[in-house]
Amino acid sequence: MTHATTYHHGDLRNYVAGRFVDPVSTDRLPIEDPATGATVGSIVDSGASDVDAAVGAARSAFLGEWGQLSPGSRSQLLLRLADAIEAEAEELAVAEVRDNGKVIREMRTQLKAVPKWYRYFAGVADKILGETIPLEQPSIFGYTRREPVGVVGCITPWNSPLFLAAWKLAPALAAGCTVVVKPSEHASVSTLLLSRAFERAGFPAGVFNVVTGAGPTAGHALAEHPDVRRLSFTGSGSGGRAVAQTAAAKFTPTGLELGGKSANIVFDDAPLDAAVNGLLAGIFAAAGQTCVAGSRALVHRSVYDEVMARLQDRVSTIRVGHPMDDATEMGPMANRPQLAKTVDYSGIAQAEGAVLVSGGSRATVSGGAEGFYFQPTVFADVRPDMRIAREEVFGPILSVIPFDDDEEAVAIANDSEFGLAAGVWTEHVGRAHRVADQLEAGTVWVNMYRANAPAMPFGGYKSSGIGRENGVHAVEDYLETKAVWVETQPVASDPFSVKA
Ligand code: NAD
Repeated sequence: MTHATTYHHGDLRNYVAGRFVDPVSTDRLPIEDPATGATVGSIVDSGASDVDAAVGAARSAFLGEWGQLSPGSRSQLLLRLADAIEAEAEELAVAEVRDNGKVIREMRTQLKAVPKWYRYFAGVADKILGETIPLEQPSIFGYTRREPVGVVGCITPWNSPLFLAAWKLAPALAAGCTVVVKPSEHASVSTLLLSRAFERAGFPAGVFNVVTGAGPTAGHALAEHPDVRRLSFTGSGSGGRAVAQTAAAKFTPTGLELGGKSANIVFDDAPLDAAVNGLLAGIFAAAGQTCVAGSRALVHRSVYDEVMARLQDRVSTIRVGHPMDDATEMGPMANRPQLAKTVDYSGIAQAEGAVLVSGGSRATVSGGAEGFYFQPTVFADVRPDMRIAREEVFGPILSVIPFDDDEEAVAIANDSEFGLAAGVWTEHVGRAHRVADQLEAGTVWVNMYRANAPAMPFGGYKSSGIGRENGVHAVEDYLETKAVWVETQPVASDPFSVKA
């Protein structure tokens, strides 16, 4: 099947205060189609003035119409937003496929899931409660108010732009904040298109704004803007560190969702059909470009050969192809630098002595000679001290590491700077819970892998991040607590002693 390279996103502009605006910056960045390598449009590389305009619009909306809405009205708008996204799901899915190379079958599922986040947090918007506080002095009435922090800066990566943006936007809007989103320079199209759903739902202008551009320009300007009261970042450790350092200078609280090197552990009593499927899903779905990629398969030595044989069988039949093909199981890498990084790590693993059993190089796809394709790749007999077992590739490279007992499996899994996710494959209920307790990871899946839900908290231990997205408590990140003291019997008390 051929897929025309005539698809063109156009030369896109920022979305500010309810419309697409001409930027101050004259710099532009190309949009490359990962399936062909062709340039198919451009985005603005926004500078500080462009970011300032977007933050200004968000601040005006916060102080204006949006700030006056009741929680119930915010809830209604979020529900309408979910409907509007559903109505445009196919178009948004295709835009992402054309922008970051994710396969269409996954994007259709993902776009079906995105509205769930807005609906879930629509249910939270009118249940944000303060407290009355019993105090020692009976004449003083003390209570707390939960107030939205104000303008939130959201910085997102290229691998699942709308999905990961929803994790930030839904609770921030439910809390009553307004937002400026800076999507990845490698995948900005769908976030710009999301503006239509906001308009269709009837949000006041300025509640949702998008500025495009590179991290060090647009991203940095957003992180250092004095009117941004909270930052929420998803991306690499180096990007997260830069944003957190910028934010620290003005004490802006920052949520960080970062990378991983997740262990997917197959015990000797594992249901092997399901486990091998789980290993494949963990690393080859989305061509390994998910933060929770199960890039380390830890396999008990007694089932090691069996697992390797089954893995090799299935990996050799993975259909690598154009991401718009329904039959394609693995599409291209999302962008040129990511392809180069994956090629590099394959070389590093081979130089370190890991045994290459499948793949290892660029894949050729008919009609996509210049596309960013890489073969599904498996390395056997990987040692935990190898770079391929320690560093995040964010590509379709699986490192298989044998182990001899539960203690060793947990020790290898935890011997990592990261702690985002882990998989546990066993039919022994006691072992499942024991190992889940012992793993240093924000998410543990038992006999399953790569699932998430708006109701389940998500985030990382160690270098995988700070804070949790999702779950009912995620809204707290976007709220201030104000303590109000009311003396109901005003008396002129000693001005030189504190009321305690
Ligand atoms: P990245 O850090 O290069 O970029 C992420 C975002 O940060 C982009 O919008 C980028 O422009 C911006 N950015 C980069 N440097 C910046 C700076 N100095 N100041 C301000 N903004 C800056 O990450 P990426 O390559 O787009 O995404 C892949 C990474 O994201 C992987 O490490 C992956 O594990 C991680 N990720 C984590 C999660 C999670 O929920 N934990 C989810 C998806 C991806």
